[in-house]
Parts: sequence; C-alpha cells; structure tokens
Amino acid sequence: MHNKTIAELSAGLKAGEFSSVELTQSYLDRINSLDEQLNSFITVTPELALEQAKQADEQRAAGNAGILNGIPLAQKDIFCTKGVKTSCGSKMLDPFISPYNATTINKFNDSGSVMLGKTNMDEFAMGSSNETSWYGAVQNPWRKNAVPGGSSGGSAAAVAARLAPAATGTDTGGSIRQPASFCGITGLKPTYGRVSRYGMIAFASSLDQAGPMTRTAEDAALMLNVMAGFDPRDSTSVEETVPDYTANLNDSMAGLKIGLPKEYFSEGLDDAVAKVIESAVKEYEKMGAVIKEISLPTSNLAVPTYYIIAPSECSSNLSRMDGVRFGHRCEDPKDLNDLYIRSRGEGFGTEVKRRILVGTYALSEGFYDAYYVKAQKTRRLITNDFNQAFADVDVIMGPAAPSTAFNIGELTDDPITMYLSDIYTIAVNLAGLPGMSIPAGFVNDMPVGLQLIGKHFAESKLLNVAHQFQQATDWHTKAPAAFK
Ligand code: GLN
Repeated sequence: MHNKTIAELSAGLKAGEFSSVELTQSYLDRINSLDEQLNSFITVTPELALEQAKQADEQRAAGNAGILNGIPLAQKDIFCTKGVKTSCGSKMLDPFISPYNATTINKFNDSGSVMLGKTNMDEFAMGSSNETSWYGAVQNPWRKNAVPGGSSGGSAAAVAARLAPAATGTDTGGSIRQPASFCGITGLKPTYGRVSRYGMIAFASSLDQAGPMTRTAEDAALMLNVMAGFDPRDSTSVEETVPDYTANLNDSMAGLKIGLPKEYFSEGLDDAVAKVIESAVKEYEKMGAVIKEISLPTSNLAVPTYYIIAPSECSSNLSRMDGVRFGHRCEDPKDLNDLYIRSRGEGFGTEVKRRILVGTYALSEGFYDAYYVKAQKTRRLITNDFNQAFADVDVIMGPAAPSTAFNIGELTDDPITMYLSDIYTIAVNLAGLPGMSIPAGFVNDMPVGLQLIGKHFAESKLLNVAHQFQQATDWHTKAPAAFK
C-alpha cells in the first residue's frame, strides 16, 4: 500500500479496497516503526489522524468524497495547526500550540485529507541540511549519515521513505527543490503569490512560498489543486484563477523549447551530477523538445543578493519572538531588557542568530542603501535576466543542486559552502518564478534532481513537462532499500 501514489490510493479508496482508517493506520504504523531511524517527524498526531480518517470514510459513504478524501499527508511544522504544536523547528516555539489553522491546513482539511503529523525542518526554515532544527538532524533515507537537504528535510525524507504518500514544504531559496533532489522525490515551488502564506510562519516574506512534495508530478498537481488560490487574508496572494493542474499533464513535448543556462553547467557543478542532467535533457530531445543554450548572466549575484534580502526580512519577522507574546520565555527576568535578551538568546539557535545579526546590520541606518537597496536592485536585474530568457524558451532546465546529499556535519562549520548548495534554486525565488525538482537519476546510489523553471503562473506547464518525463523514465518510482 505504501508504494502507491496519491492518485492510486485515491482510486483504491474509491473502489473500496481499503478504508481511510485502514490506510491511515498503516502509515501511522510505518512512522511508529521506522521514523526512529530518520527523525522526520517532530509531532505525530495519531488520534487526530484517525478521527479525520473516520470522518473521511463517513463523507465517502455519504457520496461526497473529493480526490484527496481520506489521503494521509504530512505537514511541514511551519504551518500553524490549531491545537497542535507548531514549532518551526525551534526551541523558541516548542511550547507554542497554535490557536488557528494556516489557510493551507484549512484547505487540506476541507479536501477531506488526513494529517499524520508535523515534519522536521531547519529552524525557522533557515538551512539546507535540516541540521539547524532544535529537534535534531534528519537522516536521508537513501544513506545513513547523509543529510536529507533542507529546510523541508523532514517532509522530503518522510515521502522518500514512504512514511507519508505526500507532504507540504516551503521554499524561500530552495527548501522544496533541494531536499526533493537529495531524497529523490518530486517537489514544486509555485509562483510567488500562488499559495496563501497566511499562518505559514514567515521567514522572508517576499520569497516564502509553500508547495507540494510528492513522488510524482501527477500527485503534485492534485496537491496544488487544493493549495493554490487567492486568500483575502494574505495581501500578497494573487487573484488569478486556479486551473485544474491535472488537465494538461499529457500534452506533447514536441516542439517544447528548453533553455539550458550555460552558467548552471559551469564550475561548481559535480561532473557526475552534470552527466545525469545531460542525459535527462536527452530524454526530452527524444520526445521532440528543442534544446537551446541560454545565458543568465546575473546567476552569480543570486546567492549574495539573497543573503542580504532573506536575513533582512527575517530580522524583522522574527522580532515578534520576544518572550512576551508567545513562545519561549526565560526564567525570572530582572527587567524587560533582560526578558528580551535571555528569551531570544535561549530560544534561537546559532544559524537563526547569525541571520538576525546580518539582517539587522543590512537594514541599519548608514548601511541600508549600501546593502538592502543594492540587493533590491540586483534582484531586479536577476528577474530581468529570466524575463529575457523566457522570450525565447518555454522552460529552463538544469540541476537542482550542485551535488548529491552531503554528510551530516560535513558543512556545518562552512556556512558559505552550505549556502552555495542553493546556487541554482535561489534566483528562482528572487524572481518569484515557479520551479520544480524531479528525480532524474543517481550518482553512487544517491538521487539527483532535475530542475525545471517556468514563467510566472506556468505551473501547469511545469507539471506537464515533469509528468512526461515520468511517463518515459522510472527514476521517480525507486525507493530507498531500507524503506521499500
Ligand atoms: N537554504 C536557504 C536558506 O537557508 C533556503 C531556505 C529555504 O528555502 N527556506 O536560507
């Protein structure tokens, strides 16, 4: 059962082969017996899950079951969930029980799906390896002691290990696509504004976007059908109609124009990863796509630009974590300053503190123009590069990450190399574009993700392009040996 996709499980539920209660119980059993090895969940919610599953079965019996009815899902612990701990991977929010649901959670509840629990993540989504979580590192199901990627590392590991058929993730600079690549699953970061950010704990508000982490593009389409849409509670969500994302999955690749940015295939990219990506692109050629070399000349500015903008926004967003309103509060504060200083000092981890310091500096008087304003200008140049490229091509392709998963501890003392693991994903967030990572092969038994980048609101096209690859190849069906 656990090797089935959402689409297959949904068909099984419809045909009465199993109930949602049975399905949910079987995933809870797997989590119970296997997650000890991975640490992919921060919180498992068995009672809630079985209650939701029972309701889903009743809804089905009453004849009103949608496609996600009764499907168990894992939610990244960045989404506020009413009555359930919402930690964001931080000691700061370890005591936080949210009084309300994120819009995404409400939408999944309305779809009749079931929440298995909340997945592990880098603290406040800051990281590329899931090692900054206060709840400890997550193991990559493909190789013990390798990272699953981050920040949505728990979601990626859980889906790859078949502890959930699918999960949610969020992506500020690569946090859906990079872990999807490291764990051999399908991850989609939608266009900025496509999915509501309401109740999704903010890291960098102008970049954050939630999306599905699944095994197939078809499942990602089914998830996005639920997640996408305007939300009056999020002023940055866009009033753009939501198509049926499954409608175009079978469109032909003949004549599709694919751009390969020469900057994505240069120094810094592991040779063996490059080979995997090149052979994936050949698959598309076989399907009739036309390949074109393009240039994104500002590619090298993406990481430095991001590491001004994201910390600036995070320093402002995280100021609400002050020990007064919610979250961790220090013992016996002397006065108000002591309360702030010790609550924040004790509640936040090293990486979060580093970002707050960098961001506060970049936004301070005297440095604002030199750093923040400059970064906003380079952000515009990066966006212009993409717009220009998309005048000639339909989709841009390249690696999702420069290497396969590295080992736990390997880069913790080297933040710059860690930051560079998002070198191919970050520009996509700065430009607000949709991007995907899909399984494209292996290097030494570790998965490699092919990145697809589309025009604004071209999620249907990306899903179509991804689905066609998954019709022609079977990389996305491979399971890690220990979790088959
Ligand atoms: N790894 C990047 C960072 O640490 C991106 C994280 C993310 O997308 N949430 O900021």
